[in-house]
Amino acid sequence: MSRLSTRFRLVFAISLGGLISQAAGALAQESGTGSDTKTSPPPDAKVRKTEDEWRRILTVDQFMVTRLKATEAAFSGQYAQGHFNGTFLCVCCGAELFSSKTKFDSGTGWPSFWQPIKKSAIARQWDYSEGEPRMEVMCSRCDAHLGHVFDDGPAPTGLRYCINSVAIKLKPVAGNAKPAKGKTKGPKKRAPSTSENQ
Ligand SMILES: [Zn+2]
Repeated sequence: MSRLSTRFRLVFAISLGGLISQAAGALAQESGTGSDTKTSPPPDAKVRKTEDEWRRILTVDQFMVTRLKATEAAFSGQYAQGHFNGTFLCVCCGAELFSSKTKFDSGTGWPSFWQPIKKSAIARQWDYSEGEPRMEVMCSRCDAHLGHVFDDGPAPTGLRYCINSVAIKLKPVAGNAKPAKGKTKGPKKRAPSTSENQ
């Protein structure tokens, strides 16, 4: 026991000393006990934080929508209208949720998609908070509330994922080179289509 506690003190001291947490993790693992080592989780691992932790890393709007299931005002979000090129990530945990290729203008005032980037990216549950039951959609990695899915979308799925802008953030297409000198004026150009399966 005393040997173990010595190691704990050692680990603790090393952490305090500002050394990388990997060193502490290795030592703690060596001790074979369940200490709270900070190792990076695998990409699909669940992300769990307390309400206070989320509150610290999110804006008020992001927190209200993703953690308390509020809904942003229609046409208020930055992705409500227009064309974007890239992948939309969960604003809470960075998980890839939707491709811009599946975004369409639903006229509702919220960014709308006919399909998630992969089925497993999205969790679903019935929402009975209003008169008609709705199917709520969430980030399957961190349970962030994203919006709802309805069955009045366009082909090929017939689905409409109605998503709050503040719940997502755009990761532009990789290799989408910017013009070397300033920004070109005039109408937005569509980036040349790439063979990458974004
Ligand atoms: Zn997430």
